[in-house]
Amino acid sequence: MAIETKCLSCIVCPLSCRLRAEIKDGKILSVSGNSCPRGEMYARNELTAPRRVFTSTVKIKNAFLPLLPVVSDGSLPKGKILDCALFLRSIEVSAPVRAGHVIVPDILGLGVNIVASRSMD
Ligand code: SF4
Repeated sequence: MAIETKCLSCIVCPLSCRLRAEIKDGKILSVSGNSCPRGEMYARNELTAPRRVFTSTVKIKNAFLPLLPVVSDGSLPKGKILDCALFLRSIEVSAPVRAGHVIVPDILGLGVNIVASRSMD
């Protein structure tokens, strides 16, 4: 089978290096265009098992705003982000909440917690 080339932008830092990966039979042969090793790791992960830090909101009672901003404390599989968003729509918390408080431990069994990204009295 022929060697396939995939181009992507590294999102690890603001330099946004243009990466180029050569793939054959589903195996990554090489990554180029990265200015540091993190770019190669990003490309390999992105092309095999992409993950993202997830930000969203959950409903909150007894607070001055109706929604509490939350964030995952690690990256989640990209394919599970929608499931996580739907789960968060189904829950409601009560004020007060401190920034960093775990709102959902181990969301969907993915080994990542959803935490409050701000305090709300
Ligand atoms: S390859 Fe390195 S320097 Fe380039 S965007 Fe990625 S992290 Fe930044």
